[in-house]
Amino acid sequence: MEEHLQEDLASLSDLDEKSLLESLTGRFSHNHIYTYIGDILVAVNPFKQLPLYEKEVSERYKCREKSSLPPHIFAVADRAYQSMLGRLGTGPKNQCIVISGESGAGKTESTKLLLRQLMELCRANSQLEQQILQVNPLLEAFGNAQTVMNDNSSRFGKYIQLRFQNSSVKGAKINEYLLEKSRVVHQDEGERNFHIFYCMLAGISPQDKEMYVFVVHCVKICIDLNSVMTQEKVDMMTILAGILSLGNITFETTDSDAVKVSEKSQGWLKATAGQFGVQEEELLRCLTCTMSVTRGESIHRLHNQQQAEDARDSIAKVVYGRVFGWIVSKINELLSHKLDSDVALSEIGILDIFGFENFAVNRFEQLCINLANEQLQFFFNHHIFLMEQNEYKEEGIQWETITFKDNKPILVGYRSVPLTRCLALFELFFNLQATDGNFVDKLNSKFKANPHFEVVKSHSPLFTIVHYAGKVQYNASGFLEKNRDNIPANIRALFINSVTPLLSVLFAATISRTGTLMPRKAKVCSTMKPLVYHCHAKCPMQHSLAVLMEKMFAASPHFVRCIKPNSSKLPDQLDSKLVMDQLRYNGLLETIRIRREGFSWRPFFKEFVQRCISILNTTELRGWKCGSSRLFFKYWHQEELARLLERLGKAAVVIQKNYHAMSCRRKY
Ligand code: ATP
Ligand code: MG
Repeated sequence: MEEHLQEDLASLSDLDEKSLLESLTGRFSHNHIYTYIGDILVAVNPFKQLPLYEKEVSERYKCREKSSLPPHIFAVADRAYQSMLGRLGTGPKNQCIVISGESGAGKTESTKLLLRQLMELCRANSQLEQQILQVNPLLEAFGNAQTVMNDNSSRFGKYIQLRFQNSSVKGAKINEYLLEKSRVVHQDEGERNFHIFYCMLAGISPQDKEMYVFVVHCVKICIDLNSVMTQEKVDMMTILAGILSLGNITFETTDSDAVKVSEKSQGWLKATAGQFGVQEEELLRCLTCTMSVTRGESIHRLHNQQQAEDARDSIAKVVYGRVFGWIVSKINELLSHKLDSDVALSEIGILDIFGFENFAVNRFEQLCINLANEQLQFFFNHHIFLMEQNEYKEEGIQWETITFKDNKPILVGYRSVPLTRCLALFELFFNLQATDGNFVDKLNSKFKANPHFEVVKSHSPLFTIVHYAGKVQYNASGFLEKNRDNIPANIRALFINSVTPLLSVLFAATISRTGTLMPRKAKVCSTMKPLVYHCHAKCPMQHSLAVLMEKMFAASPHFVRCIKPNSSKLPDQLDSKLVMDQLRYNGLLETIRIRREGFSWRPFFKEFVQRCISILNTTELRGWKCGSSRLFFKYWHQEELARLLERLGKAAVVIQKNYHAMSCRRKY
């Protein structure tokens, strides 16, 4: 086989960055987009349709040994499924598939292919399986948008949990992370708002479309909401229309320095109030002043123009965030299923989370995304390097340590608390009562000794973090306002009193001490189910990521590393520098070494013996029994077993001889 067609890079004879890149490039030019590094799958985005996913291919990858077929995403699905069922000699266990890569690298497409194949593996063609596959367009409509990097970029992270009883799927749950809400009110050059707004506008005249400033361009995407939504659909569409109308409200300063809604947008104020089902004066009050309660007395402070615009934008973001959370909870309601209580559940989780970001100006969203990626990289390092090498040490295996880029100091630089519970920077952000002005000063003094933090000398509130994937400079202006996710009391009251039942439900919730968003007794229609989704009192992000990490650390991981071949979304083009950068920060070179030199299957004796028992089951030896702590054989079995072992022993001698001959040939 030609070197560049090597399917498993862990078996490359001469290993360096150059040969790694050459192998991937060679394979890519032959449309071999998938390559293994031991048990890790590298997937290079082809940016074109390849005949790789037909029914016949899907059939071929069912219950087959990984090495018997070319590398494929379907093989990852099969391995996760078989491992979950305990068919690969490791005992049944929850599995998680972690898909990583930068924006446009192919994570979401890989997720969809994995889901499809996992549903194929369950065989049964139930309604639930169809629903699991069908909810994706809905999620993408609300959570994806066109960006400069990707025409269908996921602006939220998701962890899909598939729940199985025996071998069939019984339910699914989607957890969403970090929806980029700021996109609702602002999109950079060449970027768009969430797809759903364009779907809505597809039905109205071009002139009417032009009116909405939150939506800069239009695109027609057909999405059938009917399959999922019922009577609440109308409410939801009206609320979304309200968000668009709200975006058209502008303000001006009066002679007496107060702020008022501009003459030309009075109509939009009326429209918004109508669409949100709230009193116009109440809405106006929320936009133009802040209310606080001191010693039982409510005090109104008038906004200036900037504050009024900020209030408008934050209402739009918070409403959209709630609608998105509701969509996800609706999907989860649909996918949750009745389970037989006497059969244990096992799970396969698939994580599709946005990749590392480094823009001209990086704000709070980028910090959250990049810290989430740090956490994932740590998870990868932990499994691939730390855990494995620690086991060699503990088990007394002779081993030369392989070093890797450890990103732990970024995550535990502030306090030495367990990683699964804390992201050091988040802790700081959410626990320090900082103001925008002194926030960066506090960061500088806390982190100045951390090798992953750099102080920036500037009048602007800037700081730099040296991430595993490169240095990123952040601009902290507005950071604190952005991360405070709690809704001012007057805005919550405005929406709780809405005559639109859905909107009232979305805001009729309160944050419990444990951080769960609990339904509050509200005067809402009784047919609506209470809404419960996770939200941390101080930092929703920190809490939900910690829960995710705990789940993942308790499961057997499978890694898919997606690589973007070029920045122009073009087929058949591979930009060596771009690919090399991704290989470097993914730590793939070190991964090849550890996969080649290490021992990735490390069964305990008990597990191994279990496997031997499975082998015994396949032999002609009949009539023996397996007890809870010992085996039971007939007297003649001993002799038969001895003969079998002798045959096995002979095979082992042959293997040893061949191996010796092979290594001699290599030497000379
Ligand atoms: P983001 O982080 O922005 O969400 P992503 O990693 O999820 O990015 P995808 O949306 O999965 O990226 O992929 C981007 C585009 O690349 C897809 O819309 C599709 O056109 C193409 N693509 C990805 N994977 C494949 C594939 N296996 N075959 C064909 N085209 C693909
Ligand atoms: Mg995506």
